[in-house]
Order: sequence, then structure tokens, then C-alpha cells
Amino acid sequence: MSTSTAKQPFDIDLALRRIEAAVEPYPKAAMFELAELGYATPFEQLIACIISIRTRDEESLPISRRLLDVARTPAAVAQLTPQQIDQLITPSTFHERKSYQIQTIARQIVEQYGGELPCDEQALLAFSGVGVKCAHLALGIACDQPWISVDIHVHRVTNRWGYVAATTPEQTMVELEQVLPREQWVNINRLLVPFGKHICTGQLPRCSTCPVLDMCQQVGVERHR
Ligand code: SF4
Repeated sequence: MSTSTAKQPFDIDLALRRIEAAVEPYPKAAMFELAELGYATPFEQLIACIISIRTRDEESLPISRRLLDVARTPAAVAQLTPQQIDQLITPSTFHERKSYQIQTIARQIVEQYGGELPCDEQALLAFSGVGVKCAHLALGIACDQPWISVDIHVHRVTNRWGYVAATTPEQTMVELEQVLPREQWVNINRLLVPFGKHICTGQLPRCSTCPVLDMCQQVGVERHR
């Protein structure tokens, strides 16, 4: 649905300020919640992001804590067998494959980097099982570096706004790098994950009470609440 009233140029800072207030009652995105709970090293964030792939935040948060409470460092995780890791992360989707990936990553960090994962994009992307989304999220949260992490929520919401026009999350990331102010690169994931889960939902977004309705082009929205 494209509304008939003319929209102003999209003021991203204003939109994110309104969204910050709107998502206040909802749980934080899992990785940011984990960081606030003290699991904030690049290794902890990377492992937690791998665990979260195709797994709901409500499940992945306690699963990550269960593993990290047993072993928090690359050296400690490398001491576990993939089977032991698998037992700890089993409710996670693809847990068997992830347990091997996590053990291998921990071992490689010990062997290649003396047990400390560097804040380096290429180092993170070199690991099997680590894509751009997780690498950027870990670097953004744990290393305080400006990286954009585009998951399905960031992709859907920014395209509905008309802020970008992309068909894949990868394209959305490239377009966001052109238009989004750097100081919002990490923030956009922090805010749009809960916003996309609870307000600008995949089906029947809650447009009638949305705090950015007056700014949004509602691209591709056929039906809403
Ligand atoms: S809920 Fe509706 S108005 Fe709000 S951002 Fe999503 S599509 Fe736009």
C-alpha cells in the first residue's frame, strides 16, 4: 500500500528516536541483551550469533548462556568436544553442525591468534559458518566499530519505509552503507529487530499505531492493522 499523502524526505534520526521509545516495552535484541548481561567479548558475541541463526531470540539467549557459562573463552571452548558442545546447544536449529563450527573456531583462535579473537572483519569472515551478518554484529557490539548488520527485520522495515529499495538483505546492507549516518550503523539493528518483531511485523504490520506512519511509504504493504 502506498499512501496518497506526500511524505517528507526520510529523517532517519527522528525515525529511530521514535522507534527507541516505541520498542522500550519489548525485550531487547538477543545479542544486545547478552552484551548487557556481560557476555560482550568478540568471541562470546560471535558464538552467540552462530547459535542464534534460524533460532528464535527467546531460545537462543538461554542456549548461549548455557554454553558460555560452561566455557567463555576460546581456550575453554576448544577443550570441549563437539558432542559436549552439542549437548549444551541442542535446542538451537542446526545444533549438530554448529557444534562442530564452534569447536573449530575456538581451536583456530587458540592456534592462530593466541586465544584472543581480534576485532577484524576478515579474521571473522574466514571462519566456516560465519557470515557478514554475524561478523558485523559481533564487531559492532563487542568492538564498538561501525558495521551494519542486516537481518530479515532490518531488511523488511527499511524497504517498507522506502529508505532503500533492495530485494535481498545483502543489497539492503550495500544501500544502507550509502545513506545511513555512521553513528546509526549499529543502532539500526538494535532498534529494528524488536520493531520488526512487534510492530512492523512480516504479516499485518501495526501501521495504524506505528510511530513512523507519517514518514513511511509502506512499500509492498497490502494489508495492515
Ligand atoms: S508498521 Fe507500517 S507504517 Fe510502520 S514502518 Fe511498518 S509499514 Fe511503515
